Amino acid sequence: MRTLLKNGRILDPSQDLDIIGSLLMEDDQIVDYGDIGEPDADETYDCTGLWITPGLVDMHVHLREPGSEHKETIVSGTQAAAAGGYTTICCMPNTRPPLDNPALVDFILDRAASPEAGGVFVAPVGALTKGMKGHELSDLAALKKAGIVAASDEEFPIQNAMVMTQAMEFCVQLDLPIMAHCEDTSLTEGGSMNEGAMSAMLGLKGIPRSAEEIAVMRNCILALHTGCQLHIMRVSTWGAVEMIRQAKFLGAPVTCEICPLHFSFTDENVGEFDTRFKILPPLRTQVDIDLIVQALNDGTIDCIASDHSPHASHEVDVPFEEAPFGTAQLESAVALTLTNLTHKGILSPLETIRKLSTKPAEVLRLDAGTLRPGDTPVAQVAVIDPNLEWVFDKHKTFSKSKNTPVHGMTLKGKVMLTFCGSEIYRDALFSDERYSIA
Ligand SMILES: [Zn+2]
Repeated sequence: MRTLLKNGRILDPSQDLDIIGSLLMEDDQIVDYGDIGEPDADETYDCTGLWITPGLVDMHVHLREPGSEHKETIVSGTQAAAAGGYTTICCMPNTRPPLDNPALVDFILDRAASPEAGGVFVAPVGALTKGMKGHELSDLAALKKAGIVAASDEEFPIQNAMVMTQAMEFCVQLDLPIMAHCEDTSLTEGGSMNEGAMSAMLGLKGIPRSAEEIAVMRNCILALHTGCQLHIMRVSTWGAVEMIRQAKFLGAPVTCEICPLHFSFTDENVGEFDTRFKILPPLRTQVDIDLIVQALNDGTIDCIASDHSPHASHEVDVPFEEAPFGTAQLESAVALTLTNLTHKGILSPLETIRKLSTKPAEVLRLDAGTLRPGDTPVAQVAVIDPNLEWVFDKHKTFSKSKNTPVHGMTLKGKVMLTFCGSEIYRDALFSDERYSIA
């Protein structure tokens, strides 16, 4: 079986490659790309005007299984990932029970590899402490052997600096990155949105930016002194970004990500207590966005991750303070990024794909994020129409969760095809007359 993606814009940040050309896959591997003429193929897709990129890599996804299958399952979540252009995703450990033992890692890997799943690689992130309680380290050596690629306590970050130091020292020995949600919870208890004029007006208890910044600073300092590889999850304030910039300047092994909602919306979007805008850390202000886009442009912010956090409709259809944090993002993250960063000239197409694919693969040392044959176990490719304008419709998504502020928005840019060994997603619009398929 030979598949030819013809005449597209090939963007491969792993080789700083941005050329017009074609890509040929044979069986489950990429065999050639670039100026390769028109070799014989069983299937030929005309990719004129489209991007051909490495399959995208999402380092921050909540699949909710085991324990909360009413929100999402490994099957529905991986299908949503395929539709989002992703071929590799990392799933977070805050399941029920938490991902703190090797048997659960086996379970997730088995489910992800099942034929009904979406066909993407799932790289689990293990719980840093037992039960994510912040006291005693999990058996990280056994978890790593079972296949985790990083450790994190996600929404229950370690508060005690001594425990965090020990965790980092141990992870240095294991050569295991720590992914840290940064929050000093003594400052955030009962808070449900950004602390500021908007929270005061709505009479909601705020989450101060200092809670994030104190934790970012502490974790960066500990990473600097222990040498532990630290990845800071979804930064949201300009102050946190400045501290990361400083930590990198000092030589700390620190990287960070942002979630598209944090450069697309502000706390003003909460409006009349709209729970679709309730995320953690909370949506901040336009000043934060202005400085965040600079940090994306200059490379201080390394990666873009969806923080796909699905919830069932009945769980979010409650008073704002009672609603859980998080929304479904796998199927809109790329389009939000293209709409709000690439088309506004903040990121070039190549840098866009670097933050969505190559860099996250590099940070977590995943065999992904490149078109180079042999560097990934199977061909991982996404085809994106960067200029297609479309309206996001939550009723047409694969995720079980329909809770997203992106519903009804007009976006520019859409994933058309995803390959992971074989074709795992084809957009309904792709078979349109827009793209002649031979
Ligand atoms: Zn998360």
